[in-house]
Amino acid sequence: MIRVGINGYGTIGKRVADAVRAQPDMTVHGVAKRSPDYVAVGAAEADYAVYAADADRADGFREIGIDLAGTVDDLVAESDVIVDATPSGIGAENRPLYERHDTPAIFQGGEDATVAEVSFNARANFAEAEDADYARVVSCNTTGLSRFLAPLHETYGIDKARVTLVRRGGDPDQTGRGPINDTVPDPVSIPSHHGPDVQTVFPELDIDTIGLKVPTTMMHVHAVNVSLAEEPDGVDDVRDQFRAEDRLLTIPEYAGIDGAGTLKDFAMDAGRPRGDIWENCIWGESITLQGRDLYCMQAIHQEADVVPENVDAIRALTGLLDGPESRSLTNETLGIDL
Ligand code: NAD
Repeated sequence: MIRVGINGYGTIGKRVADAVRAQPDMTVHGVAKRSPDYVAVGAAEADYAVYAADADRADGFREIGIDLAGTVDDLVAESDVIVDATPSGIGAENRPLYERHDTPAIFQGGEDATVAEVSFNARANFAEAEDADYARVVSCNTTGLSRFLAPLHETYGIDKARVTLVRRGGDPDQTGRGPINDTVPDPVSIPSHHGPDVQTVFPELDIDTIGLKVPTTMMHVHAVNVSLAEEPDGVDDVRDQFRAEDRLLTIPEYAGIDGAGTLKDFAMDAGRPRGDIWENCIWGESITLQGRDLYCMQAIHQEADVVPENVDAIRALTGLLDGPESRSLTNETLGIDL
């Protein structure tokens, strides 16, 4: 049983903890939390051992009735692998802590690619992380694009990908984020940083991206155009490729799912924890082929799509299973593609 420590118990950390708990071959050794707030109370109520990320705040945890299991230093020493889900940039600052204890670690997409030997996506490059001590699970957008592009790249080859990313302004708990009433080019420079991030997974891929930010907390939406190297045998051939992928969900026309709001409603009706959607959601009607040019639109739930990837990254780093075995077990235990 691999003991997993989660350092940083926020949007991503708490979801990864619950996903790890659902696995038969790993256990949550504990979670390191910085603030003694409602999320910390939730962690304790979920029976996670809580460690103080900041020893100076330990008294605050005791005051709200949380018995600490130790400090983050203890958590790193006692764990077989750490998932660092701290805010962007803090992961890099934490790396020396993991090195000091010789504990392998998984970082998140808010870190620079240089934080780890490998930028990881379970579908595209699982094997590259098998000999690594440190891996970075790429961002929600890069995860969504990597999953989408991998089968196209393998089957037809890609001459060039062009993607416009309509990005959610913030997560539901990010009360200070925006825009509140605007559509903002973000970044205004073209191409955006997302293309180079995809190239950390597919170094040879020609991809340009454009980013915008809009006032929603629901999901990101990507408008994608891929010029394929080889012409598919009709649009149904492409649809079949997508259908064969476990983390690509094609939304059927009959469902009446016309936006990210209805998608989230669907996920909540389906009983998904926190309304999470771990899969890319591709609108079936949008899949259009003009010669070698493929067009479509997909929605990405930013809070959720990287969660199964973190579970798979744990298996890659610790050698528990190979890529297909790990993805299949993660899917089965979380309820993906059922
Ligand atoms: P978050 O702010 O929701 O959670 C981070 C948690 O870490 C908070 O609980 C915070 O109190 C805690 N923290 C802060 N400093 C810490 C420290 N020094 N030690 C331990 N804990 C500390 O952030 P998030 O949205 O979960 O993002 C975490 C990482 O995941 C970032 O790299 C981010 O870019 C990436 N990511 C976020 C999303 C998303 O949409 N939220 C999607 C994919 C990847």
